[in-house]
Amino acid sequence: MDLGIKGRKAIICASSKGLGKACAMTLARDGVHVFINGRNTETLEATAKEIRDATGSEVTAVACDVTTNEGREKLLAACPEPDILINNAAGPPTGNFRDWDRDTWIKALDSNMLTPIELIKAVVDGMIERKFGRIVNITSGAVKAPINVLGLSNGARAGLTGFVAGVARTTVKDNVTLNNILPGPFETDRIAEVIAGEAKARGISEGDARVGRMAANPSGRFGRPEEFGDACGWLCSANAGFVTGQNILLDGGAFPGVI
Ligand code: NAP
Repeated sequence: MDLGIKGRKAIICASSKGLGKACAMTLARDGVHVFINGRNTETLEATAKEIRDATGSEVTAVACDVTTNEGREKLLAACPEPDILINNAAGPPTGNFRDWDRDTWIKALDSNMLTPIELIKAVVDGMIERKFGRIVNITSGAVKAPINVLGLSNGARAGLTGFVAGVARTTVKDNVTLNNILPGPFETDRIAEVIAGEAKARGISEGDARVGRMAANPSGRFGRPEEFGDACGWLCSANAGFVTGQNILLDGGAFPGVI
């Protein structure tokens, strides 16, 4: 599918691995100049090479922690006028809300709510002036169906979702859209960590925890990162200008509701 965005520029936060990397690969395959990001320089450079070799597109690697002011400034200095912004960062730790103090909450809010809001604020007016913008936030299926041990994620991501819902209706007349993609279980390092934690907590093997999780999903499997990347690519496409303020769940049918 031709996304109609060849030659555009995209900042993809937290994209040296996993879902962010898959989004960068899809966009680069369509001729977008991608600005990828991660904290580990070695991993980031290896991913930049992999995307360049696979797509022939321009790839700029920006090594920094996107949850800091300095990190965001570095990304925006590398790409001051992005046409596309994909917001992403590591999810907060699991735990019991009784153990979380104010600092723990502020860290989660910084990562998964305030960082995307700061980046949206920095780029949205330029997009409006240029009459094209696509902003996609990677959130979580837990926004629709909160998971108790993921309280920090539930809270921070719900805050971002509410913010985006308001702004998304004010920018669409200028062809600038804001949407969220909500991943269920996807085959990445993050899910491997979650499985290892579950196996330890339940005293079972990681293999058994993995099989159990897959069996609990109607699809009988985990999502593939490239399936996520292609959904993101569609939301960033030229013809997706009529889709805004949406929360698109990619979870193999795990959420049982009709809406
Ligand atoms: P992943 O495979 O662990 O990849 C995370 C990527 O983000 C890595 O490239 C990592 O590189 C980078 N990163 C993390 N924190 C960063 C920071 N502060 N600044 C810059 N780069 C950063 O994770 P994933 O599965 O793609 O998950 C992406 C998001 O989706 C997370 O918020 C996760 O909680 C959420 N999610 C995932 C799933 C799933 O099943 N995979 C389900 C629900 C929600 P460095 O470590 O080198 O920085």
